[in-house]
Amino acid sequence: MAEREIVIVGGGFTGTALAIHLARLGHAGLRVTVIEPRERLGQGVAYSTDDPTHRINVPASRMQLSGEEEGAFDRWYRASDAFIADPDAQWSDGSVYPQRSQFGRYIAAQFDHQAEHAPVMLVHVRDRAVALDNGVVVTASGERYRADELVLAISHPPPALPKVLTRSLSGHRGVIANPWQQDALARVGKEEQVAIMGSGLTMSDVVASLHRQGHRGKITVFSRRGQLPRDNLSGSWDARPLDYQQSPTTVRGWLRRIRREVALGAKENLPWQRVLDDIRLNGQRIWQQLPLKEQQRFLRHLRPWWDVHRYRLAPQVSAVLELLQISGQLTVLAARLERVERKGSTLALTLARRDGTQQTLLADRLIITTGPAQGALLNSDALLSQLVAEGVIQADPLALGIRVDDASRTVNAQGQSNAHLWVAGPAARGHFGELMGLPQVAEHAVFIAHQLLGITSSPHQERCPASLTN
Ligand SMILES: Cc1cc2nc3c(=O)[nH]c(=O)nc-3n(C[C@H](O)[C@H](O)[C@H](O)COP(=O)(O)OP(=O)(O)OC[C@H]3O[C@@H](n4cnc5c(N)ncnc54)[C@H](O)[C@@H]3O)c2cc1C
Repeated sequence: MAEREIVIVGGGFTGTALAIHLARLGHAGLRVTVIEPRERLGQGVAYSTDDPTHRINVPASRMQLSGEEEGAFDRWYRASDAFIADPDAQWSDGSVYPQRSQFGRYIAAQFDHQAEHAPVMLVHVRDRAVALDNGVVVTASGERYRADELVLAISHPPPALPKVLTRSLSGHRGVIANPWQQDALARVGKEEQVAIMGSGLTMSDVVASLHRQGHRGKITVFSRRGQLPRDNLSGSWDARPLDYQQSPTTVRGWLRRIRREVALGAKENLPWQRVLDDIRLNGQRIWQQLPLKEQQRFLRHLRPWWDVHRYRLAPQVSAVLELLQISGQLTVLAARLERVERKGSTLALTLARRDGTQQTLLADRLIITTGPAQGALLNSDALLSQLVAEGVIQADPLALGIRVDDASRTVNAQGQSNAHLWVAGPAARGHFGELMGLPQVAEHAVFIAHQLLGITSSPHQERCPASLTN
């Protein structure tokens, strides 16, 4: 029997990366159990797609398990048969943008390696955690796992149907509410007229998939601002580190500062991406220095703009979008959906355009690509719902995920930190800020492994109560 049991609920990238780091840093006597219903670990929502057009959106050299391993995935991938089988992965500047499933395979292989060689015992339980009972995690199949520490690594709930559609069209065959579902797009006919709600990375995935399956019908994408994710930068550029000593304390101040830095960079022929990359690198520090009111202001006004500049497209996907826009097959509108009516098997969408005009759009299919229903995370899962109902966890003040303290321990309804119940990955981003892209999520997993193993001490550790369900 293990002397210490750490249970991780969720074996997507975050949970699996954490298990790997615990195995690398921990000692014999520790057992780490990852509860994850998927067959393979390391996939989660992002890396489980087997569509070959779904690529990672940064070069492989920037995807890794920790900052210290820069380039490890790139080397692994270039040495694999998958690289030879996918000539499109390599872009003209020499960087590679592998299919997303390859990154999932890489992470699973690292887990298997540690499971075989590390003194720490690593176990993948293929099940779903449904409850916590006196420090014991109960799964859907009725198994029970003692947890000295439990880490919640659940990040992306399924997309939700917008209210305007739940009333009138729930279950309609023309509506594809969750394009992430296996074969969700297989039933879209080649000549069908498609409307897509949402213009971010999920939309780009969908358009690339439709293009691959030979779709020729008109595609109309609409979102409130009609902004598409921007392109990644080709070639290598020197970083342009900013001085963070005199940081603004308001969102408006930051907006001015970023505009100024971009303009200064432009004078030196530096692309705006390099300035934004540095801001993103320091995103957690910037976020944590902003008062709650300013964080709310950012989410209300700036987030959509930040998102389109920060979440970029793989050049292969960008090329498809450009091709279809030039050919006239793809149109992007800045518009809000007002209502939808059934006209036989066709849908009539009334759009209120940003320029004040109204437009009716007829479509055979309406695909929802507004992304995971992040605000609904705590209601999307039986275990999380139980913990909320019992006051063990609560939403963070910005409703982006679960409330945690500086060490990423959960904070209960009475405001007390719990040294036995932790959150890893994007669900902790209300507190930490920028915690969605791979580099930040990977570093967060390292940080939590250190915290759990006492490698660095957190200033709050002494205050933590001793019960898992505190
Ligand atoms: C579509 C998409 C594409 C992305 N592409 C990129 C990219 O190219 N580059 C980049 O840097 N970042 C990308 N990201 C962002 C980033 O990589 C992800 O945010 C990150 O992978 C988060 O993974 P996760 O493990 O925290 O969460 P998830 O992927 O949500 O995984 C959580 C896991 O928990 C499991 N689970 C849920 N509930 C339970 C339960 N009760 N019991 C047991 N298991 C449970 C689920 O089955 C799932 O596998 C992408 C994100 C998405 C959504």
